[in-house]
Amino acid sequence: MAAEVLAQHGIQVDLYDAMPSVGRKFLLAGKGGMNITHAEALPQFLSRYGARREEITALLQDFGPDQLRDWIHGLGIATFVGSSQRVFPVDMKAAPLLRAWLHRLREAGVSFHMRHRWQGWQDDGQLCFSTPQGDITVAANAVVLALGGASWARLGSDGAWLPLLQQRGVAVAPLRAANCGFDVNWSEHFRSRHAGQPLKTVAATVTLQDGTQLRRQGECVISDSGIEGGLIYTLSAPLRDALEAVGSASLQLDLLPDWPLERVQQELAHPRGSRSLSSHLQSRLKLTGVKAALLRECLGAEDYQDMTTLAANIKSLPLQVQAARPIDEAISSAGGVTFAAMQQDLMLHSLPGVFCAGEMLDWEAPTGGYLLTACFGSGRQAALGALRWLAETSNKEHTS
Ligand SMILES: Cc1cc2nc3c(=O)[nH]c(=O)nc-3n(C[C@H](O)[C@H](O)[C@H](O)COP(=O)(O)OP(=O)(O)OC[C@H]3O[C@@H](n4cnc5c(N)ncnc54)[C@H](O)[C@@H]3O)c2cc1C
Repeated sequence: MAAEVLAQHGIQVDLYDAMPSVGRKFLLAGKGGMNITHAEALPQFLSRYGARREEITALLQDFGPDQLRDWIHGLGIATFVGSSQRVFPVDMKAAPLLRAWLHRLREAGVSFHMRHRWQGWQDDGQLCFSTPQGDITVAANAVVLALGGASWARLGSDGAWLPLLQQRGVAVAPLRAANCGFDVNWSEHFRSRHAGQPLKTVAATVTLQDGTQLRRQGECVISDSGIEGGLIYTLSAPLRDALEAVGSASLQLDLLPDWPLERVQQELAHPRGSRSLSSHLQSRLKLTGVKAALLRECLGAEDYQDMTTLAANIKSLPLQVQAARPIDEAISSAGGVTFAAMQQDLMLHSLPGVFCAGEMLDWEAPTGGYLLTACFGSGRQAALGALRWLAETSNKEHTS
């Protein structure tokens, strides 16, 4: 996005990427449906950036979700708004969009240099790259770094830039997993039977340290190591923060979110005759499969047999999580270049002429198109900053 804005203003742009081709994570996002942005009202949209709401609001002021959709339409790709108000390209793929975009960038004169790994700066300020043909240096009048976070390192963003910026006095918050799964100590019995199975329409509640309760409804998946999926990702930031702060974290699962507790109690109190408890759960509450197994997994035999306790746990089953899954498996990264290290136009205070954009900045957001929207918006703002910088420095050269 930064390359596009700069090229549109007649700047010669050279785009370097360590990988053999660009946009690999963007393409991977396409495998999950390519949720490019979200159609909810702007105040609610901006609230998704949590503690960084103010900073991201500034970045999206003239290129928010609506402008992003117009931009996609300008590439000849139609979009639609899903039932959850998430916005997707009609074919739900990233490849046609990326193809059309790369074509337009090449037409605009952007030069692509693949397999060029940026390695920092020389003492004279030139950029250093390692390439299959050996190391090279490049002089640039302005630089936009958009090096990504540290998830899915095999797609290119490995966080190796972090020490390179720190050595230059740039404050960087440690990269941490965001939108990630968590380890749970499943028994071998439960793991071997249920790993890979979805828990469909459940609600999960996390209690924050100040007592506030966050409740979200959706789906998640039992994994070999624990629990993952959309519902868990939406609660992953407070779970991760609690694990880091106090060493433990838990969530409460509501296995029947559409049933009030009283109804669950009434159904369980129904005489069950000679039927087993599991067929009672099945016939009265439609609780079968992985949901029923989860109750047995998490409750002791006594609690499982006590109808009052069982009803309470069906509506609020405590699940202790042990650790966040490694950042490489996460959908995105939290942490990165701090906003205090940059001017409002994303130029680094300690490195004039160097701008940063995208996931490498210190913000995080849930899935839902918020990630790509802020990446695009920040790319655009970094380019506008670079344009101002280029104009100022060329004016100075002319007057001196
Ligand atoms: C499985 C998955 C699904 C996702 N789905 C969605 C979704 O549906 N909607 C959404 O909004 N977001 C989604 N995301 C997140 C989204 O893809 C990222 O937030 C976004 O791609 C980040 O963009 P970026 O340009 O900042 O970084 P990246 O896309 O990570 O790009 C960084 C680039 O920098 C290059 N690079 C890194 N270091 C160097 C170096 N030293 N030298 C040269 N090049 C370097 C990398 O090769 C890479 O090409 C998903 C992520 C994953 C992993």
